[in-house]
Amino acid sequence: MEKLWTENLRKIEPYVPGEQSTKSDIVKINANENPYPPSPKVQEVINNFNVENLRLYPNANATELKTALAEYYGVETQNIFVGNGSDDVIAIAFQALFNGDLPIVYPDLTYSFYPVWCSLFNIKYKTYPVGDDFRINPEDYKEKNGGVIIPNPNAPTSIGEDLDFIEKLMEYNRDSIVVIDEAYVDFGGVSCVELTKKYENLLVTGTFSKSRSLAGLRIGFAVGSKTLISVLEAVKNSYNSYTVDALSIAAGAASIRDDDYFKATCAKIIATRERVTQEMRNLGFTVADSSANFIFATRSDLSMKDMFEYLKTKNVFIRYFNVPRIENYVRISIGTDREMDIFLDTLKEYLSL
Ligand SMILES: *Cc1c(COP(=O)(O)O)cnc(C)c1O
Repeated sequence: MEKLWTENLRKIEPYVPGEQSTKSDIVKINANENPYPPSPKVQEVINNFNVENLRLYPNANATELKTALAEYYGVETQNIFVGNGSDDVIAIAFQALFNGDLPIVYPDLTYSFYPVWCSLFNIKYKTYPVGDDFRINPEDYKEKNGGVIIPNPNAPTSIGEDLDFIEKLMEYNRDSIVVIDEAYVDFGGVSCVELTKKYENLLVTGTFSKSRSLAGLRIGFAVGSKTLISVLEAVKNSYNSYTVDALSIAAGAASIRDDDYFKATCAKIIATRERVTQEMRNLGFTVADSSANFIFATRSDLSMKDMFEYLKTKNVFIRYFNVPRIENYVRISIGTDREMDIFLDTLKEYLSL
């Protein structure tokens, strides 16, 4: 007999992240992780970290981390919010900022976590299809809505929009809160953090997981007006006062302060991305112009799903989404040059089968 208490269980389809593998000797280019280690300054902070400090709760305001971010972005600490990865930050933003009656809006091809949060927090949403070229049309966002969220550059398409696009979006959405998810912006996208000074209803989120090689530490942040940030703080402090731990506060701040290492790492990834894009185009693939640390590719005469499965048997892990409109595309994260050479060699092997 069906137990009645099971009716009280939450029914929800969770987000599914890229596969993690415990095998060594694999080329793991499926989760947009950074192939290079974090800044040596992060290693230094961890080596010198006094474990005795872990006895105490961390600074609830994460002041050291906020101060480093505020200096970096040229804003005040009250314009900065930090959290346990940007997934945590965005989840809090959904709860704090999307409380209207109208549905929130975002592109049809985008970060697949958004509908999951909508479902978890009972937020209605509506999507606008991106063009066949995967570009987002700002005119779609003229319609009244309960809030806007767009990743820029977008995922998994890799395409970035410019500041004109953001200005239009803000012009059409004077009565809504607009969240721009800049998880990939450091790889050649255009950041709109500066526009948060002009638009009080604009929130920009960022992460240390991609461009700062700290996915394992879980640090995310948001920049916005004091009004928006104070509401994020209120919601966060209503369920967990200590989302950012003491080690992450210290290591994250050290990462921000080492700008030379950060710039050099991003530049290496961009150079590798451009080379791999060219090589894949030479092999007959259509590859979108990427502003991210991954590329989005197809070859219409081949099954991308079969190619993805083949690469997996050769220990090369890329990402395939069984999603309408992009069911014949693959997303390939940019690894080291050596990893990408193995990927390209395995791909050529597949093409000549
Ligand atoms: C990776 C990613 C995030 C979040 O990453 P965290 O590791 O939680 O900081 C957010 N948005 C997009 C579009 C991403 O790809």
